[in-house]
Amino acid sequence: AKSAGGNRCETADPELDARAITSHGLTTALPAALERGEFFIEYQPLVHMDDGSVHGAEALVRWSHPQHGILGPDQFIPLAERTGLIVPLGRWVLQEAVRQARYWQEHHTEGGPLRINVNLSPAQLQHPGLVTDTVAVLERSGLAPGVLCLEVTESALIGADETLLRPLRQLAEMGVDIALDDFGTGYSNLANLRRLPVSVLKLDRSFTQGMQQLPVDPVDLKIVEGIVSLAHSLELAVTVEGVETGAQADRLRELGCDTAQGWYYARPGPPELLHALSLADAI
Ligand code: C2E
Ligand code: CA
Ligand code: CA
Ligand code: CA
Repeated sequence: AKSAGGNRCETADPELDARAITSHGLTTALPAALERGEFFIEYQPLVHMDDGSVHGAEALVRWSHPQHGILGPDQFIPLAERTGLIVPLGRWVLQEAVRQARYWQEHHTEGGPLRINVNLSPAQLQHPGLVTDTVAVLERSGLAPGVLCLEVTESALIGADETLLRPLRQLAEMGVDIALDDFGTGYSNLANLRRLPVSVLKLDRSFTQGMQQLPVDPVDLKIVEGIVSLAHSLELAVTVEGVETGAQADRLRELGCDTAQGWYYARPGPPELLHALSLADAI
């Protein structure tokens, strides 16, 4: 299930950072951009490490800006968070991604439905409409809640109280998977994991970077091994991010990671990328 995929998110204007965007007055451009349909989603496959089959895909938003070209999420998500636009933008991403997952379900039945992962920002977590919006999107699409996985960063949940956890708990009870994204970067108390309504741990790329080339630092191996066994003992699945080489994939498979994501398998790309991959699996 290895494919190069496209790398369409090379930004036309790499010098442009969040600060530059602000000074260009793009803050006011964000809502109009949503109305004009300038945002689009790339999908990056998640594969099962044991046999390389496709498990699903993560939705990653991009902005096709009329002057600056294609902007990556790091260039506008922080701004969208500060201005509150993240709520309608996030709702659009969810709706679009769920619609796409429904399409995959109708057209590619081999091996069960492709899961869809959608990122949730802290502002969306705090928004009172999260549960009703999500339920409405799922109901309108006819997609089973179990096909959706919402990714929340570890840092967003550090010290989270019940008010913040309740909506996630409600969604989890409906069958939506909740993944703890960028795990390992937030210094959270591991024992804390038990009280979070999460079913998937996404191990941050910083853990896998050291495994690109051999020999691998034995301490790195021990750390990942420990996290995987802890996760499994709490009945959490482990996804690894940023797998770029075959050597890395081999190590991480040996360490018991369940699913993986990274350039080695496929870069984020248009939804058709998933058709090609899942058809290849079925053959
Ligand atoms: P993330 O959720 O940790 O997503 C993974 C990032 O790693 C993506 O960057 C992806 O393109 C990149 N990546 C995947 N495989 C590899 C690899 O093998 N090597 C390397 N070096 N990188 C890899 P991207 O698309 O630029 O997204 C950056 C971040 O923006 C995401 O990090 C996520 O936190 C945020 N984001 C993206 N889409 C959304 C969205 O719809 N809503 C919200 N709230 N945040 C989003
Ligand atoms: Ca993510
Ligand atoms: Ca991540
Ligand atoms: Ca990350």
